[in-house]
Amino acid sequence: MSKVFYIDLQKCTGCRNCQIACKDEFCGNSWLPYAAEQPEIGQFWMELTEKERGAGSHVRVSYVPVIGAQTQAIAAYAPEVLMEREDGLIVIEPDKAKGRRDIAEKFAGVFWNEELGIPQGCCGCAHLVDDEESPIRTPRCVDNCPVEAILFGDESEFDLAGAERLDPQSSVYYKELPQTFIAATVFDPDAMEIVEGAVVTAKGASGTFTATTDRWGDFWLKEIPADDYAVTIEKDGKKKTVQVSTKDEDQGLPDIALV
Ligand code: SF4
Ligand code: SF4
Repeated sequence: MSKVFYIDLQKCTGCRNCQIACKDEFCGNSWLPYAAEQPEIGQFWMELTEKERGAGSHVRVSYVPVIGAQTQAIAAYAPEVLMEREDGLIVIEPDKAKGRRDIAEKFAGVFWNEELGIPQGCCGCAHLVDDEESPIRTPRCVDNCPVEAILFGDESEFDLAGAERLDPQSSVYYKELPQTFIAATVFDPDAMEIVEGAVVTAKGASGTFTATTDRWGDFWLKEIPADDYAVTIEKDGKKKTVQVSTKDEDQGLPDIALV
């Protein structure tokens, strides 16, 4: 049965405990034959990515913990450097991979250790998973997440049907990867007031999405697919349509005058 990571991004607070735990486990520690010591700088086998999205007063921050190297693409490219494991964890064996800079150059999440002359990346904390005397028997990043946003186990334990992967060959699954948003404040230029209760409709090839302006005149069309949209704002016979694309980025729009 293959092991997978299952990361629920609705729970992740961006605290970076997982990233720090991975460094703590491997910097200054060698866990042969699974992993050689990780340099203190230059490598993040677990990297918390942080992205500020939108503009002006309509901004959100999303956090995505990224576990590199756990991809079958490495197994297909260089099976001779991997440890054979029944649980499917990808472990680049330091002794077998000496001199293989090409692996680090080919795969994001695999790093070159200049001093040791080896490519390195997440080994799934195989030394902990295999250690029957370990009190945790699970990866450090999983054990150190205070909100249980990262889980690790057999793939049958998780509902993977709606989960997504950054790499289709990876064993790292995400629940609720961030989608795009459109947000703005709507105001009445004659009354010089914000407009509460306007109905906002975004139509695009991927669907129709609606929202209503709140008591600050704001609307948020959240978690919509990246697409081109015609966004129509309506209230009391007044109507305004703007063309908005979220294909490249989220949209925190300038204030919209409803006339
Ligand atoms: S499983 Fe272990 S090696 Fe991999 S990212 Fe988590 S802490 Fe680091
Ligand atoms: S430890 Fe958990 S909550 Fe904190 S950044 Fe990592 S996944 Fe998110």
